[in-house]
Amino acid sequence: MAEPQFRTPKGTHDVLPEDHQYMTYIKKAVRHRCRQAGYRRIDPPIFENRAIFERSIGEHTDIVEKELFLVSGKAAAGQDAEQGVEYALRPELTAGICRSYIEHGMQQLPQPVELYAIGQCFRYDRPQKGRYRQFHQVDLEVIGLKDPSLDAQLIHVCMKILKDLQIADRLTLQLNNIGSADNRRAFTAALKDYFIGKERHLPEIDRRRLQSNPLRLLDSKEHDTQILLKSTPTLDQFIDDASKLYHTTLVEYLEELQIPFTSNAGLVRGLDYYGQTVFEIWDGSSGAQNAVGGGGRYDGLIELLGGSPTPGVGAALGIERMIWHMKQAGIKAPNKDQVDVFVAQLGPDAKKMCLQLISELREYGVHTIGALGEASLKSQMRLADKFGARFTLLLGQMEVKEGKIILRDMAAGRQKSLSFGKAVPEILKLLGSEHLDTYSMTDQLGNVVDSGD
Ligand code: AMP
Repeated sequence: MAEPQFRTPKGTHDVLPEDHQYMTYIKKAVRHRCRQAGYRRIDPPIFENRAIFERSIGEHTDIVEKELFLVSGKAAAGQDAEQGVEYALRPELTAGICRSYIEHGMQQLPQPVELYAIGQCFRYDRPQKGRYRQFHQVDLEVIGLKDPSLDAQLIHVCMKILKDLQIADRLTLQLNNIGSADNRRAFTAALKDYFIGKERHLPEIDRRRLQSNPLRLLDSKEHDTQILLKSTPTLDQFIDDASKLYHTTLVEYLEELQIPFTSNAGLVRGLDYYGQTVFEIWDGSSGAQNAVGGGGRYDGLIELLGGSPTPGVGAALGIERMIWHMKQAGIKAPNKDQVDVFVAQLGPDAKKMCLQLISELREYGVHTIGALGEASLKSQMRLADKFGARFTLLLGQMEVKEGKIILRDMAAGRQKSLSFGKAVPEILKLLGSEHLDTYSMTDQLGNVVDSGD
């Protein structure tokens, strides 16, 4: 095969039909669990004013410093440069949802407002296994109230989704409480003091982090840093009593809900907006590398974005990583693309009759395809085989004359001739009503119902 002239951009991938089966299945689990728990779906735009991300995630985080995908479309730059607006593709969904909460006055709604989103996110990272420049996240947010029971229930919904996908056993929930903003300020000041005169012992990357985002030292992958941290002040020495009580109550609730977790004092999450509860869902064998999800409490975020002080807690799960785990665990997503009937025909009259026949079968919920080209019957039968059709209906010139049609069971290799009018009822009987793909776009009130995206 010739080398294609164009390929997907680096760090992106086509979601091919095989993977869409997984994606659809995951979305279904998410929608189901979120609806049960009262979450409503929201879709913030794919790109936003870049200041929203910079302000909320933090200027000195990897996501903003290195990975923000700036939109430099000519028209956008031309029109909006006058107003000084610059855009970035969303690296996550929380900031956009909080912007939306403020913009649409959702504080007027009964609190908490529970929202979920499913969609693409973008990070201009160096692509590697499980780390893409375009990927999909499931995102859950509970905004407007603060209580450890909300954190526990949010984690519970995430774990239920992972259980539904049969991958929960492969994962561990890592949990920490990083205290209030004051607690973290006191800790990072103490950490900086400790390192005065000792900076040279730190690896270059952490020397920089010590200045810009000292908390990140705690989850540093650098061996030397980890050793040094054993003799530095620790964050838990600075956590106030209210945060400690919050955490022990959350732990009690998680135990009540029988959610196993690992306490992880080094877990800080890479984003500035978190405070108090933070958690990640790790691969049981490889740990923090390629986590499946993460989240935490962000009580200061809405205020940072210009709203009145409003607490919130959220979580994000990475769809590509969930699919990877499902495949590793040998879990097959249901294949709804199975072809039930292939219609083969020969001659202009047969072709015309087949158009109606195909339409009628589809209307009954039978997945039907027909290659209505000019190919010979033999090559059409080969096609039916390649498509994996369960049955083939065959209408040649002779059959048209006799008012008949041939029905072939592809797996059994048996065929029979029946009158044309019997074809549809016979197929329906053979498939069984439970296998028919029927749905109605309108319910009895004429409201459009869920189309299944
Ligand atoms: P984060 O808030 O960065 O922890 O992201 C939440 C989840 O999104 C992660 O646990 C991953 O499952 C997923 N994720 C984040 N970045 C990427 C990426 N570059 N490629 C694929 N999945 C990602």
